[in-house]
Amino acid sequence: MQTWYQRDEASESDDSESDLLRALVRQELFLHYQPVVDLKSGKIIGVEALLRWNHPEGGVQLPKDFLTIAEKGGAIPSIEEWILHTACKQNKKWQEEGLCPFIVSVNISAFPLIQADLVQAVENALLDSKLEPKYLELEITEKMAMDADRTLDILFQLKRLGVSISIDDFGRGYSSLNYLKRFPIDKLKIDQPFVQHSMEDETEESVVKTIIGMAKNLRLQVVAEGVETQEQLVFLQQNLCDAAQGHLISKPVSAERLVEIYTRVQEIVPDKGIGPDQIE
Ligand code: C2E
Ligand code: MG
Ligand code: MG
Ligand code: MG
Repeated sequence: MQTWYQRDEASESDDSESDLLRALVRQELFLHYQPVVDLKSGKIIGVEALLRWNHPEGGVQLPKDFLTIAEKGGAIPSIEEWILHTACKQNKKWQEEGLCPFIVSVNISAFPLIQADLVQAVENALLDSKLEPKYLELEITEKMAMDADRTLDILFQLKRLGVSISIDDFGRGYSSLNYLKRFPIDKLKIDQPFVQHSMEDETEESVVKTIIGMAKNLRLQVVAEGVETQEQLVFLQQNLCDAAQGHLISKPVSAERLVEIYTRVQEIVPDKGIGPDQIE
């Protein structure tokens, strides 16, 4: 079966295709993966897939430089479909290479989320890669969760496939927490600024503690994003945050590099030198 990203050269000249869609056809897009480690065991429990564009003139571009272009050009559903396929296949490959199975998480844009074919795209990626659904996670934002009436229905359809769902950038400016109870969510990812300022600012510190406490009460996993210092890591560990991700542990890396750093990354989380009453 020929899919949209296996089309021949002729379709490249179609003016209606966005720059990014052309980049996809020309195989200039690739994924980097950033490890997420468990704060009890230090083990890698997941990786987040992050999109990169190897621009012929500009070199490697980050999502902030091109994702809005993609949204304008209508390329996002196609890109997202490719990301899902690539991430699932890669995760299956790591498993076949003997790494301990972990979750790969994929960021979902608002646009495909409100389209029912996201469910089909996820199902296809799973079938195609033979990855077990429990090893795929979809990251959506609070704004997306609350924006569309249809989101709830789509999220339930996705859950029925057996994948997990996380709220990315949690704490970034949305006040209604009602959706947390109604939505089939597995995980909260605390937004980077809270984590990064938690050492200098008491308010941010209490925000982090509050999010962790709330996640526990709602039986959700909680992951801290953007961990850059050992001090932040220990603070999160002491406050029983489940997992962490950030430059301290590893920057996003290629799939091959992930295999190379796999063992070293799992030695970064310190043993908990804290009171036994705090150890669950
Ligand atoms: P995000 O999903 O919150 O991803 C985390 C971002 O923080 C990544 O930036 C990552 O490289 C960066 N990061 C991780 N640890 C640290 C740290 O310790 N310090 C600092 N300063 N930054 C850190 P990136 O890759 O540039 O992605 C930015 C955003 O673009 C992502 O935020 C996500 O919302 C979006 N994005 C990335 N890849 C995709 C994709 O495949 N699809 C969609 N729809 N969005 C994507
Ligand atoms: Mg994310
Ligand atoms: Mg995000
Ligand atoms: Mg985030």
